[in-house]
Amino acid sequence: MATTEVMLARRAPNRLYIGGAWVESRSGETFATRHPATGAVLAEVPAAGAEDVDAAVKTARRAFEAGAWTGMDAADRALLLWRIADAMEARRDELVRLEVLDNGKRIREAEIDIRDAIDAFRYYAGWTTKLQGDTLPVRGNVLNYTLREPVGVVGAIIPWNFPLLMAAWKVAPALACANTVVLKPAEQTPLSALELAAIAHEVGLPAGVLNVVTGFGETAGAALVRHPDVDKIAFTGSTAVGRLIMQEAAGTLKKVSLELGGKSPNIVFEDADLEAAARGAYTAIFYNSGQCCTAGSRLLVHESVHDALVEKLVERAAKVQPGDPLDPKTRFGPLISQEQMERVLGYIEAGRAEGAELRTGGKRALYGGQEQGYWVEPTIFVGVRPDATIAREEIFGPVLAVTSFADEDEAVRLANDTVYGLAAGVWTRDVKRAHRVARRLNAGTVWINTYHPLDAASPFGGYKQSGYGRELGAYALDLYTQIKSVWVDLS
Ligand code: ADP
Repeated sequence: MATTEVMLARRAPNRLYIGGAWVESRSGETFATRHPATGAVLAEVPAAGAEDVDAAVKTARRAFEAGAWTGMDAADRALLLWRIADAMEARRDELVRLEVLDNGKRIREAEIDIRDAIDAFRYYAGWTTKLQGDTLPVRGNVLNYTLREPVGVVGAIIPWNFPLLMAAWKVAPALACANTVVLKPAEQTPLSALELAAIAHEVGLPAGVLNVVTGFGETAGAALVRHPDVDKIAFTGSTAVGRLIMQEAAGTLKKVSLELGGKSPNIVFEDADLEAAARGAYTAIFYNSGQCCTAGSRLLVHESVHDALVEKLVERAAKVQPGDPLDPKTRFGPLISQEQMERVLGYIEAGRAEGAELRTGGKRALYGGQEQGYWVEPTIFVGVRPDATIAREEIFGPVLAVTSFADEDEAVRLANDTVYGLAAGVWTRDVKRAHRVARRLNAGTVWINTYHPLDAASPFGGYKQSGYGRELGAYALDLYTQIKSVWVDLS
């Protein structure tokens, strides 16, 4: 069976990776990670506790201070990052299938994740040799220059929706900037992070530079955030946990960057190419079964094209069937967990109860004709009031809330009427309107006549309660470095 094959193809043992060695957790406790399509257990991995996290942080600190990594010639550091990318490339198919099994996402989507994760390592390998300071025109007979130095030990806490990609977005720039890292993957999807550790080990990353601790957020994650020897936390996850992390990090005043939730508006104007907008709106909400922080979960449509667009969307959504995520023909995948499925079904109930009109979906979906795994039908509500729960709260599932608007001002007002500000979409053929509206939207990313593209070269992050700090691009270098100003009296 495919599952067993992939498990056999793994290089990483189900252990913690600390100081270049594979170790059990101190407590010996483990937890199961499951295949979301069926609920079948894939593996048992260690549940790291505070002592394990402490060991990982200490080894990362020692590696940082010892200088084997921080003092390595930048060109050699670049080479190691490039080798990680090459090794990922060589094992692309295994990584793709592993991600499909652990996360449940469709293989077509996992292929994009792994491609982009490899891109991130190559992109930041390039930056390694381009981190430089400035000489500054200060008053007096003085030489003043800046050094761009690593932050130290980085704690990276990542979510389950794009497991290896989120690991790459943090580990690649953190290592490029000569930091050492303790990575805690999400408890739902620990396997690809362990494979990344195995790859780093194989290509010769010095011991202690990258450590991976599998475990739960409230224990392993919280221990990392509180640890006095961690200099920076890079977090992607829910806004609620982001808030907790800020509070906990205050104790040691560590640097924090947060990429949090969203309730992104996707605006379709009356002059849009409706076919393209329908395809785009479908992908915006149903990609990764809606489990994207950037999901276009609020579709705002001009009243004159509302019915036509909704009809196209409903037709598309009503057609898709659950299928084996490993099958390239599958168009729709499961949610990550029982808990997530129940949460999403709860939001669907709230949508109905608050008077929105359910146009398609709305129930648990069956896989292979049975209640197994964690499937929810692609669901579309129309006539959603802007103050309805499903228009305000991040659902993180395949549930679209459609609202109509009368003019551009109303569209912008509705779009910005949210505590979040991660992303937004605009569909129009009017070039002036496209750029005008892009400026008026309070969001870290605006997509015009497209939705969801991301690239290692382009910054990504939130306005408002979607977090702060920009990952990717040159902007992420600021998250993983600190600037020192050096003054030399020349008189
Ligand atoms: P989601 O809702 O997408 O599961 P979470 O914010 O709960 O997102 O989880 C994202 C990551 O944060 C996971 O790795 C999880 O283990 C971790 N996490 C959850 N709670 C905490 C916490 N209190 N402190 C630190 N990390 C946490």
